[in-house]
Amino acid sequence: MTEVSRTHLRRIPSVERVLKFFHDKRAFPDIDRAAVRDAVREALAGLREHGARVETETDPDYLLADIERAVAERLAERPGLRAVINATGVVLHTNLGRAPLPAAAIAAIGEIGRGYSNLEYDLTAGKRGKRDVHCESLLCDLLGAEAAVVVNNCAAAVFLILDTLGNGGEAVISRGELVEIGGGFRIPDVMRKSGVGLREVGTTNRTRLADYETAIGPETKMIVRVHPSNFRLLGFAERPAVADLAALAKARGLVFFEDIGSGAIEDLSAQGLNDEPFAARSLADGADIVAFSGDKLLGGPQAGIIAGRQELVDRVRRNPLMRMLRVDKLVYAALEATLRLYRNRAFGEIPALAMLRQSPTDAKARAERFARKLRRAFGGEAVGVDVTLMRGDSLVGGGSAPHVKLPTTLVALNVDGFSPEDLETRLRRAEMPVIVRIEDGRVVLDLRTVLPEQEDRLATEVLRSISR
Ligand SMILES: *Cc1c(COP(=O)(O)O)cnc(C)c1O
Repeated sequence: MTEVSRTHLRRIPSVERVLKFFHDKRAFPDIDRAAVRDAVREALAGLREHGARVETETDPDYLLADIERAVAERLAERPGLRAVINATGVVLHTNLGRAPLPAAAIAAIGEIGRGYSNLEYDLTAGKRGKRDVHCESLLCDLLGAEAAVVVNNCAAAVFLILDTLGNGGEAVISRGELVEIGGGFRIPDVMRKSGVGLREVGTTNRTRLADYETAIGPETKMIVRVHPSNFRLLGFAERPAVADLAALAKARGLVFFEDIGSGAIEDLSAQGLNDEPFAARSLADGADIVAFSGDKLLGGPQAGIIAGRQELVDRVRRNPLMRMLRVDKLVYAALEATLRLYRNRAFGEIPALAMLRQSPTDAKARAERFARKLRRAFGGEAVGVDVTLMRGDSLVGGGSAPHVKLPTTLVALNVDGFSPEDLETRLRRAEMPVIVRIEDGRVVLDLRTVLPEQEDRLATEVLRSISR
C-alpha cells in the first residue's frame, strides 16, 4: 500500500463518528438503529475497498455527506419483505410465512408470473374462461369431492361458506368449538359478521348429539363443526363423530359444514398427528362441505380450499363475495404444482412434510454435522465459544397439533461475553436474519426448519454475529 492511500484510509471516519453525524442532523429517524449501523459498516467497508473517492476528497464533511448517500442507497435497496433463516424448529411458523414452497411450486410461479397464462381463458373454445376452475379436478381427485374452489385463505373460505349457506338463518355449533384461531379470527365473530345466527349447544368440554338435535329449529340452516386447531381438551371431554352429525344434518335437511383448518391431505399419524382431521375423511364421513388452509399441513401457498357437494360449491361460486376473496395466478400456479406432488405421491418434495417427517436419528446426524462445521469454522482462535448438542422438541406450528412434540437434536451456542439475549438480537439483525430460540439460558438452533441450502449461510451469520 502506498503512503498516500494509507493517509486516506486513516481519513475514513469511524462507525461511531458517522452515527454521531447522523444523530446530530437527525438523519434516518424512522429506521432501526441496528439497520443504520449495519449500513454504515457496509458503506465504510465499501470505501476501504474501493477508496477512489477517498483518494480525491480531503474535506471530512464532504466525505460524511458521501457516506450518508451510500447509506441511504443501501437502506433503500433492502427489501421490506426479506428471506430469513428459521432456526426455531417451528415448521409452520405463521410469523415467518408458514410453509416453505416445493421447488415445483416455485418453478410454476416463475413460469406463470413471467408471462401470460390461460388464467381466465378457455383454450379449447378460444374465448373467455373461468378462473375458479383451476386446481378443481386435482382437488376432487385427492379429496374424493364432487367440486372444489380456491379462495384467499381458510378464514375467507369459512366466511364465504357461512355467508352463502347460512346467512339469514341459524347455525348450530358446540360451545367447545367457539374458538379463537389466532390473529383475531374468532369463530363467533365471523359467524355474526356473515349474518348467521349463533345457536350454541353443549358445554365447553362435552357436547352430545342430543344437544344438537334439541337445538335445531325452524331458523336452523346449518350444523357447523370447527377443528379447535391450537388448543386441546383433555380428560372429561366428548363431541359427536362427524358421521353422526352428518346423518343428523341429512335427516333434518341441513347443511353440515366442517372447518378443518390445518388440512393434512396425507396421513401424518406416524408423526403423532393422529387427531388432525383430514378433508377426505371428513367428506367420506358425510360432511357436505369443508374448508382448510393451503399453507398449513398441506405445505403449499396461502390459500383457502373449499370442497364438497357440487350444488353447495356452485352456490359459493356464485356469491358476489367470491370476486373479493379470489386468488391470483401465482397462487393457482403454486397450489396446482403442490397438489400434483400429492397425486404423484412425491411427499419428499414437499418441504414442510419432509421437515415434519424427519426422523430423530436424521435430526441428530444433521445437528452433529452442523456442530462440527461450526467448530471448524470457529477454529482455534475463538476461545470461549462453546458448541454443544442437546435434546429438544420441534413444533408443528400453524395452529396445528399444539400437543405434538417432534423429538429433535438442538445445536446450543454459548459465547463468552454475550448473553443469550444479546446473541439472539445479533442473529436476528444479521444480513440474512436468523430466528432462534433461547432454552436453558442458551441460544439453540433447530436445524429441522433450516433449508439444506441455507446451512452454510447460517454458519456464516453465526460467525459474523459473534465477531463484531
Ligand atoms: C388456521 C385456521 C383457520 C384460518 O386459516 P387461514 O388460512 O390462516 O386463514 C380457520 N379455521 C381453522 C380451524 C384453522 O385452524
